[in-house]
Amino acid sequence: MSAPQQVCVLGATGSIGLSTLDVLARHPQRYSVFAITGHSRLAELEALCLAHRPRFAVVARDEQARHLQGALRAAGLDTRVLAGEPGLCEVAGHPEVDVVMAAIVGAAGLKPTLAAVQAGKRVLLANKEALVMSGALFMHEVQAHGAVLLPIDSEHNAIFQCMPGDYARGLEPVGVRRILLTASGGPFRETPLERLAEVSPEQACAHPNWSMGRKISVDSASMMNKGLELIEACWLFDASPSKVEVVIHPQSVIHSLVDYVDGSVLAQLGNPDMRTPIAHALAWPERIDSGVSPLDLFSIARLDFQAPDEQRFPCLRLARQAAEAGGSAPAMLNAANEVAVAAFLERRIRFTEIAVIIDEVLNREAATPVESLDVVLEADRRAREAAQAWLRGRAR
Ligand code: NAD
Ligand code: MG
Repeated sequence: MSAPQQVCVLGATGSIGLSTLDVLARHPQRYSVFAITGHSRLAELEALCLAHRPRFAVVARDEQARHLQGALRAAGLDTRVLAGEPGLCEVAGHPEVDVVMAAIVGAAGLKPTLAAVQAGKRVLLANKEALVMSGALFMHEVQAHGAVLLPIDSEHNAIFQCMPGDYARGLEPVGVRRILLTASGGPFRETPLERLAEVSPEQACAHPNWSMGRKISVDSASMMNKGLELIEACWLFDASPSKVEVVIHPQSVIHSLVDYVDGSVLAQLGNPDMRTPIAHALAWPERIDSGVSPLDLFSIARLDFQAPDEQRFPCLRLARQAAEAGGSAPAMLNAANEVAVAAFLERRIRFTEIAVIIDEVLNREAATPVESLDVVLEADRRAREAAQAWLRGRAR
């Protein structure tokens, strides 16, 4: 029996992070938790350290690191606690790490995820914002450093599973006509349009099928999540935006489909539980138990499909436009969205103003070609500043 693979879980205290630790704990002979990171829920991170006994833990700030280090030492653990982005990048690229789960939310995940890619790891990509921001550079680094990039987003994991066998070995996908990206439509799929301006953060976060972090839950309600996923799919599968069609499928049982030129359409199905794509990417090309119950087609009984309504979901249109514009446009879209979603969660703006802010920022800031990470980070900074300026203007 070979030694267990060493796994680093970035964003361990989040929804994806916890699901990952759940799958890992089912296979102690196969995987060992090398490092876990958390940003705010320190008591939870401490409990996770006690349960999984990692070699490293990473927190946001130095004083938090000292506090957690003291608590872990008192409990008899020799886990080393690091802090901040340098700590995240250190564990993600650590020579002893085999697999990195990239599950930090938002732009904050970009540098640690890139550190894992540049160290040539097997990278399980949940942090879609990193790829949306820096797509061309990111994919170039994957190639240059021989990293193995496996998608965790359920749709992209499904597409990966439906692609031709040779695709995963680096060959061009032959015979693919379209990618069909499924979307649940979120909690507001049927809410009367005039009521959308009044919906609360709690309503937006109450997703009908998936339990997720707050930011992605709001993105699902606005369908910006599907817009980010459209951009993500273009990079992962080397497709133009026009080759990716969004299909509303309220049951969230089909996680996406690939349409071939001979008329065959392959789909991946499963219960909506992120442990399936996590287990798939951990073990690929093998299969391991994820803890997810078998799909019961008889209780599901029917599968429905609808075209998305862009009047209801303007964020989807904005994301498609940014995908087509290319360059720094997706990074600006993502940054403006992060600021707008945070403001909505703090009840500073209405749900319908999320799209208004993003539209305004994209109109005001011209997209530029992206030759370096600095250009991406500058576009991100400028878009955040423009979105904040909108919020300040609104407050007056
Ligand atoms: P979450 O909010 O539940 O967890 C986010 C994690 O990131 C936490 O561990 C948090 O401590 C950490 N974090 C937050 N801000 C940070 C910062 N500034 N620096 C370092 N760490 C920080 O989010 P989630 O739902 O688990 O989503 C994580 C990522 O996975 C997102 O990019 C999301 O789009 C993607 N994703 C999630 C799901 C899902 O089902 N939850 C599905 C597909 C993709
Ligand atoms: Mg998804």
